[in-house]
Amino acid sequence: MNCEEAQGLLPAYGDGELDLPHALALERHLDGCPACAAALREQRALSQAVRSTPYHRAPDTLRARLRAQLPPETAAPAVVAAPAPAAKTYRRRDWSRWAMPIAAGIALAVGLNVMLSTQRAGETLRNELVAGHVRSLQAEHLSDVASSDQHTVKPWFSGKLDYSPPVRDLTAQEFPLLGGRLDYIAQRQVAVLIYRHRKHTINLYIWPGKNGDTAPESHGSEGYSLVHWRRDGMEFWAVSDLNGEELRQFAQLQIAAVTDKAANVPNT
Ligand SMILES: [Zn+2]
Repeated sequence: MNCEEAQGLLPAYGDGELDLPHALALERHLDGCPACAAALREQRALSQAVRSTPYHRAPDTLRARLRAQLPPETAAPAVVAAPAPAAKTYRRRDWSRWAMPIAAGIALAVGLNVMLSTQRAGETLRNELVAGHVRSLQAEHLSDVASSDQHTVKPWFSGKLDYSPPVRDLTAQEFPLLGGRLDYIAQRQVAVLIYRHRKHTINLYIWPGKNGDTAPESHGSEGYSLVHWRRDGMEFWAVSDLNGEELRQFAQLQIAAVTDKAANVPNT
């Protein structure tokens, strides 16, 4: 069982709905995999938190939508100007008692679902990046263009991509550029720059993203370090088996190098 399969089974396992053979296979995997074991703990903490969350009053828009979906004989008149007949009032109160907790539950579930699917999407991307990094090392297909010269690597991408990644050699800062490569991440072709620090390889993935610069943010995934930042409308993901601290330093150097260029400071 691999991590993807294991993590797919975690929700059912947490709810006690997994059949015995799958549960045993999953437990064997969890014994040997700290990442999936951590995912299970996280899931348990989350469902604990959900159970202990107090109900909140549902927003008016949700209440209106819920009301609109009720069958006509149960639904209260949309606008109640005059007092409704006694029986109707009684009936309306009756469902109102349940509607609020139900609506709150739905709102909570929707919010939680959005949160979880965002979390899952981020996890999927990070797994893809790590897989790309590992593949590049195993297949000895590290670079399509092997050059430590940024003036060779940068033009190599033009004509292959519809954007131009910033390419900086950081040899002086002990992160020499080794070359560049195309990779396929999140269903698109992306630029990858390869750097080395001591004996460690760094894959730096670059593709156009949202606007709004962000500071380097560390993520760990299965024993690899990932650092993400956004600059000038580009997403940057650095992946390496370097420790997180050194990879953040690499990110800071990248940002400084690009900023230097913008300020017209000669960069060689
Ligand atoms: Zn695992």
